[in-house]
Amino acid sequence: MLSIKNLHANIDEKKILKGINLEIKPGEVHAIMGPNGSGKSTLASVLAGREHYEVTEGTVEFAGKDLLELSPEERAGEGLFLAFQYPVEIPGLSTTNFIKTAVNEVRKYRGEEALDAVAFLKLMKEKMAMVNIDQSLLSRSLNEGFSGGEKKRNEVFQMAMLQPKLAILDETDSGLDIDAIRIVANGVNKLRNKDNAVLVVTHYQRLLDYIVPDYVHVLYNGRIVKSGPKELAFELEEKGYDFIRDENKVEA
Ligand code: ADP
Ligand code: MG
Ligand code: MG
Repeated sequence: MLSIKNLHANIDEKKILKGINLEIKPGEVHAIMGPNGSGKSTLASVLAGREHYEVTEGTVEFAGKDLLELSPEERAGEGLFLAFQYPVEIPGLSTTNFIKTAVNEVRKYRGEEALDAVAFLKLMKEKMAMVNIDQSLLSRSLNEGFSGGEKKRNEVFQMAMLQPKLAILDETDSGLDIDAIRIVANGVNKLRNKDNAVLVVTHYQRLLDYIVPDYVHVLYNGRIVKSGPKELAFELEEKGYDFIRDENKVEA
């Protein structure tokens, strides 16, 4: 589904990603962990096609397409979803209308007709029940005055509505509180199936108690320096990132 080969990327001429290799197959959950500043959010941003990131080397193939050639909208159309680390607030735009636009943009890209009001409402109701989100939240302006938990609930709801092939979740370095972690994890676990995949980006092991990954990768200084089964996350939790640092002393 996703194949990253030797990916190098810069921000303002500064080398951040220095040769990332990663393969994700349908049905898999991968976690990227690593110390602050190792390039986790940069990787998520490059995959989402955000501005200001320059890919200098390497390839990324997603669902058979050259991902790096696609605009952010086309990436969404192909089934990529990025839950933003810092969700934007848009006063005056209701959350419902935002999601309706997003859903219909994706449908348009796929050559499908826009959902009419009745069909959209039906889909909304089904997914609201699935991720346990309240109607009142959806009629408010996008993210405006939302608590951390409400923002997360809204992101998970967007994900449920869009049904992406690959969802990328970038957890803030400050970490989510336990309620927010449960909201995100419950949503993701309900949406998991054999055809889609999830990439969880996190500094902490905590989230992985709830979303159990198939593979854990440690990003350090712009490279994946270690990969392993879910137990690798426990090892990191126990030893901290220092042992990774020690193992990679030569390459600082
Ligand atoms: P992580 O998510 O692992 O904490 P980031 O990808 O956010 O790491 O950052 C990786 C490196 O890139 C850090 O050294 C950071 O200071 C730098 N960086 C991130 N964003 C920018 C930016 N907009 N401009 C310049 N440097 C940046
Ligand atoms: Mg950071
Ligand atoms: Mg980050």
